[in-house]
Amino acid sequence: MKEKIVVHICCGVCAIKTIEFLQRDFEVLGYWYNPNIHPYSEYKARLQTAGYVFQRIGKEIEWDFDYDITGWFNMTLPFAKDREKRCRSCYQMRLEKTAQFAKSRDIKLFTTTMFYSIHQDIEAIKEIGNRIAQRHSIEFLPLDLRQYYNEGKKITKDWLLYRQKYCGCLFSEIERERTHENLQNR
Ligand code: SF4
Repeated sequence: MKEKIVVHICCGVCAIKTIEFLQRDFEVLGYWYNPNIHPYSEYKARLQTAGYVFQRIGKEIEWDFDYDITGWFNMTLPFAKDREKRCRSCYQMRLEKTAQFAKSRDIKLFTTTMFYSIHQDIEAIKEIGNRIAQRHSIEFLPLDLRQYYNEGKKITKDWLLYRQKYCGCLFSEIERERTHENLQNR
């Protein structure tokens, strides 16, 4: 029998290749918790996409609809302009909830689809995930699935999935828009 693993799902797009990879060795249970996605209309668009992906791949997912935007801003606002620190707080909040969920289901292993994204700080995710796992006496599975990014991108186009244009939070949307403005003004 395969070992069970809880996989934090940051979005449906990142889930496809991550789940495909993990299901070779594990019994996968997805877990959605993302109060970092702003505005709420964007949150709903990504939620809907993740729902479609899970239906299509036939995997189980637990939906945590606690859109704790106040908690998220409280944690990250001190670092609003420092992306590195802000993202660390954001990883911390979502991975902590994932570990708590795994514990509640008596599952000893967890990880995240964020390891698929070329835009995330995977070393920070590994460090934070390991620290949280230690505190909860469970294990965190570090991955590096960035090699599958282009393949995953093609699948999302074939499946006509909604693809987000920025990482998730309000700050990341502003950063993206400013980068575009700068490029256009060159
Ligand atoms: S850029 Fe992404 S990971 Fe970083 S704080 Fe914003 S939503 Fe979280």
